[in-house]
Amino acid sequence: MRTLIEGGWVVAFNGKSHEIYEQGSVVFEGDRIVHAGGPYAGPADTRLSARGKLVSPGFINTHVHTTGNAGDYLLLDMAKNDYRTSNYMSFAAPLKGKMTPPPPEAVAALRTFVFLHALRQGTTTIIDVGGQRGDWEGYVRLIDELGVRVYGSPPFRDRNTFSDAQGRLYYDHDASVGTQGLKDAVAFIREYDGAAQGRLRGMLNPSQVETCSEPLLRACKDAARELDVPVHTHAGGNLVEFQRIMDEYRKTPIQFLADIGFLDDRALIGHGVFTTAHAWSHYPFGDDLRVLAERGATVGHCPYKYAKMAMTLCSFQRYLDAGVNLAIGTDTFPMDMVAELRWASILAKVADANYQAGQHRDVFNAATLGGCKFLRRDDLGRLAPGAKADILLINLDHLGAPVYADPIKALIDAGSGRDVDTVIVDGKILVQGGRTTRIDEDEVYARAREVTERFWSNVPTWRWDGAPVDRIIPPAFPIHGAATK
Ligand SMILES: [Zn+2]
Repeated sequence: MRTLIEGGWVVAFNGKSHEIYEQGSVVFEGDRIVHAGGPYAGPADTRLSARGKLVSPGFINTHVHTTGNAGDYLLLDMAKNDYRTSNYMSFAAPLKGKMTPPPPEAVAALRTFVFLHALRQGTTTIIDVGGQRGDWEGYVRLIDELGVRVYGSPPFRDRNTFSDAQGRLYYDHDASVGTQGLKDAVAFIREYDGAAQGRLRGMLNPSQVETCSEPLLRACKDAARELDVPVHTHAGGNLVEFQRIMDEYRKTPIQFLADIGFLDDRALIGHGVFTTAHAWSHYPFGDDLRVLAERGATVGHCPYKYAKMAMTLCSFQRYLDAGVNLAIGTDTFPMDMVAELRWASILAKVADANYQAGQHRDVFNAATLGGCKFLRRDDLGRLAPGAKADILLINLDHLGAPVYADPIKALIDAGSGRDVDTVIVDGKILVQGGRTTRIDEDEVYARAREVTERFWSNVPTWRWDGAPVDRIIPPAFPIHGAATK
């Protein structure tokens, strides 16, 4: 069946770069695009009007935590006062043995919420960098049913993070846990790579550079080479991690990963903020940006999340100019890729005090072409004959939007993920009129809230000082809850 999308601003790929066609057209048949660009005179079985809309390649979101963040980030701040710049440790360092994993239904509810939340706001390729564990068959089934495109596998590490009774962070090393975790991830990839009609692909997930020992990282990279899959780890994400790696190896996290052979064109580095290029690192030796560029690694920039913690890449433009491949992820909520483009562009300008930095073109490229490099996919992140039919129709012409001459600039300067009207993945329409087509989204939201509230109410049971959520993160104003709940 041939579907013709007509009348919109089409972002077509010419083999080298994106170009825009006013009143252009895109035609897809099955899961592949057969035409993208100007008018199309051939036959079509179905027509979709894109009048007043941008017809864009779907975005590659390089940082989605399925469920892990839902319980913690959903409504909570992330810059807590007791772990400076180290957001994740506030909820990923419980008292040992006190945190019970949620039941499979809760995990499924959060996974569903995260997948659809990301999808509805422009993500067509979800890079799952680690979420709640367990029920991996259910995970695969969910991807199959929801129609989303995902790269992932169970995350692993051999140094779990805990708090002691005084709230001090410590790393609990157990090599066998890491070895088993890697084994499970490899088995998962062997079994499920290519599942869900090819929409689920394997990617190895050693959690963080400092929570994985050097032997584990080396073994992981060997496995990635053998399986021919990409690999992601968090590195340069916070100062605690940066200092621990400096203490252990007397190198920056980036230099360390390069020296053990982990960094190459199949490696995605989540964040990569604390490098020799960042002033807070206070490490004027070496040149991490050159190392990243020479190895061909990708940095998955998550601008909004880091801005909330008063940090950013130093800088988007300097990484780009050094030849580092940049991609964009959301990490936290909202998983709004349109907003992330604006944050990436604006923060690039502020970081360098240069309004020529962070050009619209460059951030759009990062969220599309940049995210495909470590995946080795030249059929994603672009609209061109032969590419996958992963397509967004985004509303541009409405009273909440500016009058514009350039639709890409209008999108980045003034758009929102909620302007995404239609999302097509693998030739299937998963969102239409801003609503998901396969599942009742109100129900998905209600379930996610229920599960998350349960998670919040459990926080004092594993938190070192027994503090409830509203004491760890006070509300903006006192909240008088409803009488009946
Ligand atoms: Zn992360």
